Amino acid sequence: MTLDTNRSVSDTHYKVAYDLMLRLGSLLELEQLLKQLPLAIREILGVERVSLLLADDDQATLRLYAVEGAQVPDDVQGLRNRVFFSIYERDDFPSVKAWLDGQVYRASAAAMSEGSPLEIVVETLKLTEFLSAPLNVDDTLVGVLLVDNPDTQTPLSPEKGDILAALAAPAAVALQNANLHSKTVRELASKMHQLHILHQIDRELNDTIKQDNVYDMTLDWALRFTNAQAGSLALYDEERDDLRVVADLGYDTPVEQREMLRRTHGGGIALRVARSSYAEVIPDVSADTDYVLLSNLIQSHMSVPVMREDRVIAVISVESKRLNGMNEEHQEFVEKLAARGGVAIDNARLFADAVREREKLSYILANIADVVIVVGHEDRLVLINHSALAALRLYPDVDYIGMPISEVLEHSYLLEVFRHARTQMQNVLEEVKLPNDRTYYAHFSTHTDIGWMIVMHDITPLKETEQLKNELVATVTHDLKQPLTVMNGYLEMLQMHQKLEQRGETYVRMIGRAVQTMWSLIDDLMMMAKIEAGVQLEIHPVSAHRLVEECIEQVQSIADSKAMILTNNVSVELPPIKGDPKRLSQVFANLIGNAVKYTAPEGKVRVWAEAHEASLMIGVQDSGLGISPEDQTRIFDRFYRVRSAETESIEGTGLGLAIVKRLVENHRGQIGLESRLGEGSTFYVTLPTYDNSENEPQPENSSV
Ligand code: ADP
Repeated sequence: MTLDTNRSVSDTHYKVAYDLMLRLGSLLELEQLLKQLPLAIREILGVERVSLLLADDDQATLRLYAVEGAQVPDDVQGLRNRVFFSIYERDDFPSVKAWLDGQVYRASAAAMSEGSPLEIVVETLKLTEFLSAPLNVDDTLVGVLLVDNPDTQTPLSPEKGDILAALAAPAAVALQNANLHSKTVRELASKMHQLHILHQIDRELNDTIKQDNVYDMTLDWALRFTNAQAGSLALYDEERDDLRVVADLGYDTPVEQREMLRRTHGGGIALRVARSSYAEVIPDVSADTDYVLLSNLIQSHMSVPVMREDRVIAVISVESKRLNGMNEEHQEFVEKLAARGGVAIDNARLFADAVREREKLSYILANIADVVIVVGHEDRLVLINHSALAALRLYPDVDYIGMPISEVLEHSYLLEVFRHARTQMQNVLEEVKLPNDRTYYAHFSTHTDIGWMIVMHDITPLKETEQLKNELVATVTHDLKQPLTVMNGYLEMLQMHQKLEQRGETYVRMIGRAVQTMWSLIDDLMMMAKIEAGVQLEIHPVSAHRLVEECIEQVQSIADSKAMILTNNVSVELPPIKGDPKRLSQVFANLIGNAVKYTAPEGKVRVWAEAHEASLMIGVQDSGLGISPEDQTRIFDRFYRVRSAETESIEGTGLGLAIVKRLVENHRGQIGLESRLGEGSTFYVTLPTYDNSENEPQPENSSV
């Protein structure tokens, strides 16, 4: 039976409504209101018991919330979860229909149709007859008031129905206000909680340096806040368009197995999110064809991208065993988490990459046969590989890192070359013999931010072959000299004892010249072989002036025959050269000899020198043929000779400059040239000198 709430609106009704408003007006706490409202209704209405049903936020159910007055069941709190029914069942039940239509509903227990959802309420409260009124705000049902007289069973008059209807309006408003208030308070509390967590995350992420912690921590927060049961954090490789799980929690199967499954099924939702860079909440995974079921229990899923400068660097995925397990608030939180964790995750990823690269590099370094030594600031050892330890006969279990290089390479020739390279501040290539008795080709190079790198390649097998070759050349050349001496002797005898006609004399002279050429070729070859086998220099102070003087003397007669002027402009005052007088004499005799040889008659040759810091530069300058830029690049190669009309008639082996270069370099010197075709050439030789700190030595006579 229903009553129209508008049936009689009398002053009394306004008054009671006003009374109720006054009593409840200031009550915003929902819990308090739930206590006060039934009490006030009971007093105003004069009934024995008032019960209050409340609609849920989603307007889907009504639950019994409070009972006030007589015969209150023991466990009303417990009933909240048990007594409910759907308000959408309006057409099936007159009570629900009346409430949704805003009408008072009166019924007796006997009149309750069987199967009514109210039956549970009737049973719980042992209702016989009751009056009920809906609490409506803006056409929304927020609750129902239900009154009865269980003790006395006094019938409820229609008048009471009207008053109840009048009270329903202010009661509904009060309830709605309290609801709104508590919702706001709840949201505020949740926001505060979020803020607190995010603040804590900031602190923890900034504090941690271990990358695994960053991944695990971020995922842990995501799971905790979303109440998800499982989840993973995967790094996204944009180039390979693939994800790599770096943290996962809550799954029964191993990550490798799940990853394989995900990859073979097109990457799943996480990869879809990585590609699109938009977060996705999947309320029911069975409805998404891209979803790869990683566990039968999972029902809903959420993936959120972690961005860094507009790029997706990772994806956080969380999964729930409940349908619709993730809501907007969860998404918002994980997005905030992703934004905060982005930098830390990226740093962790870069750090891990760097560590991996370093491990790779140190593995390579440790396992290559080449010797690698890195010397850092203040000449301290930064890196030394196994090959280096073995080659230098150092102890493998001693930690040499950080030690001064002079202590590590104690007394070794290597240290000397290193010091030389460092003072010159230039890269040096040098052949060195190490304590393991093997020969290495050592490259000393300087790198900003690193220091010095010494990389040495074992060339012992090469040296051995070269040695063999040199021995062969030495033997062959020695054996060749023998018949040449014989030939020379008979040629001389021929000239002395035979009266030859003019043509015969020309032939003999030509044979003589050919023998001479062969002779010098053999000499040069022997010299080259000797140098390559490694000449031992006997270092003495050498006066540059005297050295040049003697070399000029050696070629003076040839110069005279060509009416050439040879000038020695080298000052006697210059500091002495640190060198082997015999070899240096070979160097300059060769250079001055070439200058005379490749200059037309009446030309000029001038030798000069200037002192530089710890070195002397000697120039051999001629007014001769000059050398083209292309030939200049090859002129120091073995057997290289310039082919031109002018040089055709000039004899030579093409070994002279190759020998000169080797000898100069053996002295730690350098050779270069400046030349223009037709305008002459200048060969520059720089050689180390004794510096002031060394006792002023007496220059040696450079005679060979
Ligand atoms: P060789 O003189 O026995 O041919 P070198 O090795 O001494 O061999 O010289 C190589 C080549 O360099 C020579 O053939 C010559 O063409 C060129 N050359 C050397 N010195 C000079 C020079 N002062 N002027 C012009 N050309 C030169």
